[in-house]
Amino acid sequence: MRVFVVAEHRMGELNPISVELLNLANAIKKDSSEALLLGKDVKGFAEELAKYADKVWLIQDDSLEYFNPEIYMDVLTQFFANNKPDVVLIPNSSFGLELAPLLAVKLNAPIATDVVNVDVSDGIKISKYIFQGKLMVDLKLKEAESYVLTVRQGVFKEGAEVGGSIEEIDLKPSAEAKRKFVQYIEPEVGEVDIAQADILVTVGRGIDDASNIELAEELAELLGGVVAGSRPVIDNGWLPKDRQVGISGKTVKPKLYLGLAVSGAFQHVMGMKDSELIIAINKDPEAPIFGVAQYGIVGDIFEVVPELIDQLSKLKG
Ligand SMILES: Cc1cc2nc3c(=O)[nH]c(=O)nc-3n(C[C@H](O)[C@H](O)[C@H](O)COP(=O)(O)OP(=O)(O)OC[C@H]3O[C@@H](n4cnc5c(N)ncnc54)[C@H](O)[C@@H]3O)c2cc1C
Repeated sequence: MRVFVVAEHRMGELNPISVELLNLANAIKKDSSEALLLGKDVKGFAEELAKYADKVWLIQDDSLEYFNPEIYMDVLTQFFANNKPDVVLIPNSSFGLELAPLLAVKLNAPIATDVVNVDVSDGIKISKYIFQGKLMVDLKLKEAESYVLTVRQGVFKEGAEVGGSIEEIDLKPSAEAKRKFVQYIEPEVGEVDIAQADILVTVGRGIDDASNIELAEELAELLGGVVAGSRPVIDNGWLPKDRQVGISGKTVKPKLYLGLAVSGAFQHVMGMKDSELIIAINKDPEAPIFGVAQYGIVGDIFEVVPELIDQLSKLKG
């Protein structure tokens, strides 16, 4: 079984999901994990990917500098004509969601999106959440020669290096694209990526006011972490949108998730339940967050957090 990963990069940065998909590819492959990297001047990314792939196919051309689904499809179609894929893994991102359906049609392959688990022991079975994360379903895809799966970011972070090779091949688009790249508009982003943080102090509505975020920031700084928020915190404008944890925010998997006055609504829990260690502080002993937390403190954050800050400051001298 040859499992291909279409790597994503934009504006000089490799999206870390490309490596996560290789972790998944290595877990399910029977023959090889292979990355497909299209771009211009992206040899450095190929070297990074080769740590986690048996093989990296590097296709460079001026026309591939910016992502254009038409051009990508043109080149991928030529590539797959000579390299039949069993499974193609694509990031479940705006990049991947444009590309994957086009590729599935070209390959006449079944497609599943936003996949969080793949089982290849008996055909291809995938798991995904439905009804806004309320239920998880296992689906068996109909038997086919190739499959296209888009995979959720943050789920397959762990994997060993395999140390593969890089092969550069000369493929060019066969026709000019009808749409052209005009301009990249940088989204408003903060300086922190909560999906990559090891320690997250997440505040919920109970933080009560923007001015209280400082308290969480002080604690986060002592712990060496960053501050994230639940949706009401973002909706109230107390933290920027890119700090939101949950199904309409980011999926996080930190080593430590510390929830301050977060109730634990399922839309929030879906985005943090796979954290290595979950600690929750909430004044309501019935708060659902205690159902997913390994440690819980029933108490008022405005009493517990200053005490924690005090103790940690003493420990740190
Ligand atoms: C389509 C959809 C998508 C959504 N996506 C997301 C998402 O991505 N992320 C997300 O977070 N939510 C999301 N939500 C909203 C979600 O349903 C909840 O409303 C939200 O998560 C609740 O946030 P919260 O826990 O901060 O607030 P609340 O549910 O209001 O909980 C506040 C908690 O703080 C506790 N508390 C209050 N004061 C204190 C104090 N002083 N000390 C200790 N504890 C205190 C209370 O006991 C309570 O448990 C979504 C909803 C919908 C419908």
